[in-house]
Amino acid sequence: MLGVYVHLPFCPYLCPYCDFAKWPMRATSARRYLDALYAEIEREWPAPAATVYLGGGTPNAYDAPAIAQLLARVRARFPGAGELSIEINPELVRAGDFPIYREAGITRISIGVQSFVAGEIETLGRKHTAAQIEEVVALARAARLPSVSLDLMFAVPGQNAQSWRRSLSAAIALDVDHVSAYGLTVEEGTPYAAWRARAPDVFFDDAREAELYALAIELLAAAGYEQYEISNFARPGHRCAHNLNYWANGEYAGLGVGAASYREGVRSLHTRSLEEYAAAALAGRPIPSEAERLEGRRRAGEAMMLALRTAQGVGLSEFKERYGIDVMTDYAPVVARFARTGLLERIGDTVRLTQRGRFLANDVCGAFLTFE
Ligand code: SF4
Repeated sequence: MLGVYVHLPFCPYLCPYCDFAKWPMRATSARRYLDALYAEIEREWPAPAATVYLGGGTPNAYDAPAIAQLLARVRARFPGAGELSIEINPELVRAGDFPIYREAGITRISIGVQSFVAGEIETLGRKHTAAQIEEVVALARAARLPSVSLDLMFAVPGQNAQSWRRSLSAAIALDVDHVSAYGLTVEEGTPYAAWRARAPDVFFDDAREAELYALAIELLAAAGYEQYEISNFARPGHRCAHNLNYWANGEYAGLGVGAASYREGVRSLHTRSLEEYAAAALAGRPIPSEAERLEGRRRAGEAMMLALRTAQGVGLSEFKERYGIDVMTDYAPVVARFARTGLLERIGDTVRLTQRGRFLANDVCGAFLTFE
């Protein structure tokens, strides 16, 4: 199956922790960017797709008719998708947006909430209110959008178990279909990195962060959400198929500035320069990109790393068939080390992280990636 990702990089303001390819919304650049995207889409070889995902940036910095037009173009090139998602920023939602999204085929909205607590929302540089989030979920339900997801963030400076519980409980009370809960990562070069250099104690250490992660797992499980990936929780029937395809090491086509693709064993990454991207796309030149072919042990290591993120883990027979690697033999020292320390378990034909292993997933996954 093929997943199609479309990057819409404009935001109404820039959050100080963010490391994505994004720019402040300016009408002229946003219009030119859409033209560039259309030009790139027209050059794509038509192929059936299983999922389409509009991410950003803030896709709904564009108005709903522009989103509908873009989706129509994407779907003409990549027909057949059963799941069409859009990331949205709650305070930009206008009353009539969701019926237009629904009409355009969107089946899933992912709302960038991060927190329901006013002080944390401010610390993160976001501008919405808890009331706006509730309103957006109600609008999505009224428009009968099949899946509503919220993104939440923990280990935010100033947060504690009580305030994190408030955000989780608020999400659960809204009865959303899916919750993504990510720990804050401080990326080099962002204003948050400078803040951490000045005031390291404001930021969470691993142990305190793990306490908040444990609280998320506990509360979401009690409310009937299945943890189907390290950071993702879904009610039955609401897993994100687009992301599941990434974790299954499936193929995806990335359109737009900074977008990544993985097709026929080659991973490529478009330039992160908005000007370079737009100029090349509009002139009909190849988009400047970096590409590498993933082969052999490297390809298998990536696949292990991705599959271990999921609750399902790695299917041993299927893995051997697909990559020619016998996990229990070829990765024997790594498997033995993490099985001994209780982070990895084998159940029948599957190897997966234990509940404890989920807290140290980066260490375990990284070891498979770098094992020679
Ligand atoms: S809205 Fe999202 S993409 Fe835009 S700056 Fe904030 S975190 Fe980054």
